[in-house]
Amino acid sequence: MSVKINENYLLLKSNYIFAEINRRVEKFQKENPDAQVIKMGIGDVTRPLPKAVVDAFESAVLEMGQVESFMGYGPEQGYSFLREEIIEKDYKKLGVELSTDEIFISDAAKCDTANIQEIFGLENIIAVTDPVYPVYVDSNVMAGRSGPMQDNGQYKGIVYLPCTAENNFIPELPETPVDLIYLCLPNNPTGTALTREELTKWIDYAKENNSIILFDAAYEAYVTEEDIPRSIYEIEGAKEVAIEFRSFSKNAGFTGTRCAFTVVPKDITAVDSEGKTHDLNSLWNRRQTTKFNGVSYPVQVAAKAVYSPEGQKEIKESIEYYLKNAGIIRESMEKIGIKVYGGMNSPYIWVKTPENMDSWEFFDLLLNKANIVGTPGVGFGPSGEGYFRLTAFNTLENTIEAMNRISKLSI
Ligand code: PLP
Repeated sequence: MSVKINENYLLLKSNYIFAEINRRVEKFQKENPDAQVIKMGIGDVTRPLPKAVVDAFESAVLEMGQVESFMGYGPEQGYSFLREEIIEKDYKKLGVELSTDEIFISDAAKCDTANIQEIFGLENIIAVTDPVYPVYVDSNVMAGRSGPMQDNGQYKGIVYLPCTAENNFIPELPETPVDLIYLCLPNNPTGTALTREELTKWIDYAKENNSIILFDAAYEAYVTEEDIPRSIYEIEGAKEVAIEFRSFSKNAGFTGTRCAFTVVPKDITAVDSEGKTHDLNSLWNRRQTTKFNGVSYPVQVAAKAVYSPEGQKEIKESIEYYLKNAGIIRESMEKIGIKVYGGMNSPYIWVKTPENMDSWEFFDLLLNKANIVGTPGVGFGPSGEGYFRLTAFNTLENTIEAMNRISKLSI
């Protein structure tokens, strides 16, 4: 007998999209060594950590080198100095009351959104919007909830909720009951968001159907419009049906520093096979204390500095910088008659590809004729076909240059 693998991994779609982008870009650069390629495909920030954050980070590192102030293992759930700051500065201003033990500090929203499914039974039906941040789907495939991939690019056991221009990127409530619903708002990749009224329908749905919403708010800092909620807990009753994920990656530039948090309210419950109710806060706490040993002390001190007045001022400037880029992209594309979505409450601009051109054809056109790299929408799910994602995470200069090049194309 030999060791057997987890065969669910064999069901995963290969990371074909990013490998294929790299292959095409490398080939192009080899053939055109003088071309100045501008990359607008990657969802990573480019502006450095705020000075207030770096200063705090540095002094915490120095503390680690002194016997009097050295810190070993911290609490798996995170230090209370950061958890309390989150409650005070992120949630109180929204009128949301949370307690410290409802906040779990982690090193990434990617891990948390991937790991959360572990505390739920395999028989649960999951629903995702389409297109989608791939982590939600792939983590459920690995766990064995998906069944095989079908010819239409969808997994048999997963419910897909299409979000396209036809429905204004507002997912319709599922036709058949679902248990776990992943919502990412403002959305990656479409850059669109739901209003309070629209999100309220989802809370009502979850209550009526005993479902749970897994709400990824990684981009909440980009919300500019009044009627777009920053947290799902702004909606009445959400604490009974929603888990919220947040991250310091996209608001404060922590993509390389790693810090995030997940809110698991005490009121949210699920049942076992005998119908007995269990609170998910205890389950997630058990999961984290078993498999995770906390985020490093200096990183948590650095994350706390995000909430200082100087930190807030600096992150506001960075977000405005990216949103300005997003505005330039929107305006330039619209000027040449291309339909765009998102970019108002998000660093992502979702471009409708010109008629008779699919996602990859548009990719090749931009690469070959304007030396610009974006992401074909089809890489985020079947409903992404015919769309293309551009990101505002470049420099202002590169963004302007890229738009000048696109404006000269005859599309
Ligand atoms: N959630 C969404 C929707 C994202 O787009 C990303 C990163 O691109 C993440 C989570 C990951 O955040 P983190 O850097 O905290 O892992």
